[in-house]
Formats: sequence, C-alpha cells, structure tokens
Amino acid sequence: MNLEPKLTIAVDGYSSCGKSTLAKTLAKELGYLFVDSGAMYRAVTLYFLEHKISISSLQTDSNKELLNTYLDKITINFEKNTDTNSYEVCLNGRNVEKEIRQMDVSLNVSTVSTLKEVRQKLVAIQQELGKNKGVVMDGRDIGTVVFPDAELKIFMTADIDERARRRFKELTDKNIATTLEEVKENLRQRDYDDTHRNESPLLQAKDAIVLDNTILSQKESLEFVLELFVERRV
Ligand code: C5P
Repeated sequence: MNLEPKLTIAVDGYSSCGKSTLAKTLAKELGYLFVDSGAMYRAVTLYFLEHKISISSLQTDSNKELLNTYLDKITINFEKNTDTNSYEVCLNGRNVEKEIRQMDVSLNVSTVSTLKEVRQKLVAIQQELGKNKGVVMDGRDIGTVVFPDAELKIFMTADIDERARRRFKELTDKNIATTLEEVKENLRQRDYDDTHRNESPLLQAKDAIVLDNTILSQKESLEFVLELFVERRV
C-alpha cells in the first residue's frame, strides 16, 4: 500500500468500544504513531488520587489557581515498551500504564476530564504529538477539538453489555479485581458524564464515520477502517 502522504486519524467514541485496540493495530499497520489520549486523563487523575487532592473541590472557581499549581507539577509523556512494541504513559517520568487502569482511576477520571485547565494542558500535548501527521489518536474529542481537520474520523459504538464483558475480561486478565456489574455501571456513568459535560463533550463529528463493532471481530473493524483509509487517500 502506498502510505504517502500521511493522514491524521481520529478515533472517538464511547467507553470500552475497542477504540484503543483498533487505533493501535491501525497505527501498526500504517507505521503511524498511536496515542491513547484517555491514558493521559487517567494519568492526571492518578496524580490527584496519589496526592490525596480532593477532585471535586477542583471544580470550584475559587480553586482554579490551586489547580494550575498542581498542573504545573505534572509531566505526561509516552515511552515505548519494547516487549509489546506499544507506547505506555508516564506520569512525571514513572510508567503508570498499569495503575491508570485501576477502578479508583476509572471512577474519578470523568470528573477530572471536565476541568477546562486539564483539557487545555492535555490537548496542547496531543496537538504537539500529532503535528507532523501520521498519527492515530483515540479519545472523546479528537475529531471535534484536537484535530478538527483530521482526514479520517471514526466514531465507535457498541452494545453496553458487550462492552462491559470485554472490559471485564481485559481487567481480570491483568489481575485487576472487579465485577462485571461494577464495570458496566462505570461504563454507563462515564458515557453519561462524557456526553453531558460542558467542556468538549463526547459527540460525533459531522464528518465522522460510525463504526458499531458489537458483532464485528477486531480484524473486521480494522478492515473496515483500512478501506476508508484507502478511499481518503485517493
Ligand atoms: O479512553 P478511556 O476510557 O481510557 O478514557 C478515560 C476517560 O478520559 C474518559 O471516560 C473521558 O472522561 C476522558 N477522556 C476525555 N477526552 C479524551 C479521552 C478521554 O475526556 N480525549
């Protein structure tokens, strides 16, 4: 396949639809950079939890200065795991890929992601990472806010029970203790919070293509997007 010129590919959608899995395999196939933007919101959340900072208090206007002071102390970047050949998120230089998947982070991340100052900081890093194109980034606002001019935008969805089953398996495979019901409730709540917040809510970009992968295999989803990729490059 002729891979030039490079495109920007945005993959947005609901929680646990397989966005990261698709974005990662697509990036590998195309030789593009893969960026999991949700991992960045999770890493900031982990910082607040580890420092016992009251996340709800950061939502009040009087604490904006304090929030900025915390954010100045946070550095987020990615490092390559040479065993899995994937990029893992680092918080102030520490690889926190496993910690950010814990349930306490999942329970708080949607509140953290409502904070305008957090979004501004992370969007700037995301835009810098994608400035040379050749990037596949997944999240909630990639096609609407981070890269509104992306040449290919995918909006992913899937049945909530199927999503809960997949995420539950992923977590138990990583020895993270939880129950299917807890996972499902968390997905439901995050979907609600993400679509109802004021700052960059999750919504389908007008020019996004919907991919419902409830009954599709990972391979079928990848093939669907690769076909679109080829069309977009003509
Ligand atoms: O993608 P993941 O489920 O790991 O994202 C965790 C949370 O981070 C989401 O539920 C959402 O609240 C937030 N997020 C966001 N914008 C993004 C990516 C993630 O608000 N671009």
